[in-house]
Amino acid sequence: MKKLIKGLREYKSKYVSSHQQLFEQLSQGQKPRVLFITCSDSRVDPNLITQAELGELFVIRNAGNIIPPYGATNGGEGATIEYAIQALGIRQIIVCGHSHCGAMKGLMKLHTLDEEMPLVHDWLRYTEATRLLVKEHYGHYKGEELLEIITAENVLTQIENLRTYPVIRSKLYQNQLNIYAWIYQIETGEVLAFDPETHSYVSPQSQVPISDDETLFDLDPDGNVTKAFSNGQNTIEQPQEVVFDRHQGFPMTRLSNAQIDRIYRGSTKN
Ligand SMILES: [Zn+2]
Repeated sequence: MKKLIKGLREYKSKYVSSHQQLFEQLSQGQKPRVLFITCSDSRVDPNLITQAELGELFVIRNAGNIIPPYGATNGGEGATIEYAIQALGIRQIIVCGHSHCGAMKGLMKLHTLDEEMPLVHDWLRYTEATRLLVKEHYGHYKGEELLEIITAENVLTQIENLRTYPVIRSKLYQNQLNIYAWIYQIETGEVLAFDPETHSYVSPQSQVPISDDETLFDLDPDGNVTKAFSNGQNTIEQPQEVVFDRHQGFPMTRLSNAQIDRIYRGSTKN
């Protein structure tokens, strides 16, 4: 607790005092551009991993980054989604799962949770589709591999759950909303994004439309360019690793250059 109190003091004396303009602006109201839905896990911090500024992300966090389907419960998730879309005008949603997720481990042994953690057991009902799909389709995987598959499928299940909300359905119908599936890797700090075209998790940079004079780079720890994404001629093209493929499953596969070239156009720039 002492550490947190010290942190509060430092925040005020260093951060707040050096961002006066931002705080002045935020006191007038918020205009976040993204609804970020992720797990409560202490190792995942939406603002830190995206390096977003205060006021940029509207966040929902709970065990397992789960969104109960519309009408299934009167929880805070639905109200927060409605507010994000209708009151704040947010047009981009990220559902972000993560590696080593305790909630997803719970889903793997759901039958033992009933007595031990009845509330968690009940909460995981909202991702029953994940459990059944994985059981019937990926039954031959075990341990860490199975956990990765469950985590990846859960994010997609939650996007399906999101689509049951009238406000989401309506905005999607009008092409006024984009939803992204991300997985955060705790061990590397990297994010993988689901690409609906290739049905696999790829670098999120490949999902951002890039202008002709712009190039985005992936760097290794020594600062060398390992991947480059560009609409120009000089793009460095290297195969990109795919951790999880919905159709092929594990083991790890690699995308072709043609697939890397294909930039996902379903998003708007910002
Ligand atoms: Zn988690």
